[in-house]
Parts: sequence; structure tokens; C-alpha cells
Amino acid sequence: MSALMMETEQFSYTVHYSSRRRSVALQVKQGQLTVRAPLGYSLADINALVQQKQQWVLKHLQQVKLQIRPQWLAEQQLPLLDNTIALTRMRGAKSAVLYDEYNITVIVSSRVQPQRYEKVLLALLQKWYQQQALSWFTQRVFYWQNKMNIRSGTILVGNWRTKWGYCKSNSELGFNWRLMMAPAWVTDYVVVHELAHLKHLNHSPRFWQLVGVHYPQAEQAKTWLKHNQHLLEL
Ligand SMILES: [Zn+2]
Repeated sequence: MSALMMETEQFSYTVHYSSRRRSVALQVKQGQLTVRAPLGYSLADINALVQQKQQWVLKHLQQVKLQIRPQWLAEQQLPLLDNTIALTRMRGAKSAVLYDEYNITVIVSSRVQPQRYEKVLLALLQKWYQQQALSWFTQRVFYWQNKMNIRSGTILVGNWRTKWGYCKSNSELGFNWRLMMAPAWVTDYVVVHELAHLKHLNHSPRFWQLVGVHYPQAEQAKTWLKHNQHLLEL
């Protein structure tokens, strides 16, 4: 059996079955959890085990994140979909973010203590990315739902460590703001993926078939996210 993608509230992971295995093993490598299981072990049991080991998994997922933090801020540039925008930092009377098409200026209030500067800067940037993400994903969901003839509910943007999006049974869709640091074609894959869940609330072959019909580059997008997720971080 090939690899299966699974999701929890906090992260997604891959399950590999093998006839040679006798026990279940969890492995975190390059910020990804892989579960290896003997044939016949049910996905429900695997998911229960993963939930049980959640603290351990999160700890290891986060360690990798810390080790390979990208250098966007040091290089004074930020990725925004298919563009790179120049970052200017300033101190001013009031904290604010100013943005035009190619430049972003972040002003941190001069009343913010030096030891809190970095934290405030990151919070301002993340809030700005979240605003960009909400308008982008609202637009892209509208575009794709018409093509796929599916109706979505509320669209939200969230901040999760290792999850790109979610879909709820009430048709609510959520997207990770970090996707705004990925190319537009990759964000479209996540939109199609979550919309397809409104028809199939699982990762069954029928689900992947629906994704593939509307988004033939799905495999490339998955690979891109796997290899580049450490860059989608401030
Ligand atoms: Zn999914």
C-alpha cells in the first residue's frame, strides 16, 4: 500500500504500511511525521496512537523549525506569493505597517523596550500576512468553488505550526497564513484540496481523484510544501 496522508488538529502526517513490520513506529524527520505500521493495523488505531504521542511529536516538529529558521528578516526581504518585497524597519511614534506593491515598512513604536522589539516586529508582520491571506484565500476559494461546483462556508486564516489548511463539516475552510510565503500555484493546490474535502471528508482515492481532476500539479505542490515548509516562517 502506498503512503496515506492523515491529519490531526495540529499537524498532518504520512502512514506507510509494510508487511514486514511487527509494530508501529513514529518518526519525525525534516519537520514531517511519518508513521510506519504493520499491514492490518487500522487508521483509527494509528490516529489514536498519534494523539497519545502528540506532545512528543510537537516537541520534535518544533525543534526542526528552530534549527532551520529562514533569514528573511536578516536579508531585509519577505516573500509574498510570487514576489519578493523589500523590508524596511523603523522606529516611530506609533507601531504600524505600510505596504505598497514592492515595499513594506514596519514601524515599531519607540515606546517598545529593546528586549521586546523583535517580538513586536514579528507580531506586526504576522498580522499583516494574515490580512493579506484572508483577502487572497477569499478570492481563490471563490474562483475554485465555481470551477469545482462546490459551495464553501466561512473562510478563516489561522496560525498553525505544521498544518496548511482544514475543512469542517459545516463547510468552514481554514488556511495557514504562512502559505502567503509560498508561490501562488502552491496556495491554489491547498484551496483545491480543502474544497475537495467538502465532497470527501477523508483522503480516500476518490478524494485524490477529485483533486487531480481540478489540479493536475497536486503532486508537485505537495512535494514543494514538503521541501520548503521551513522557509514559510518569519
Ligand atoms: Zn486533507
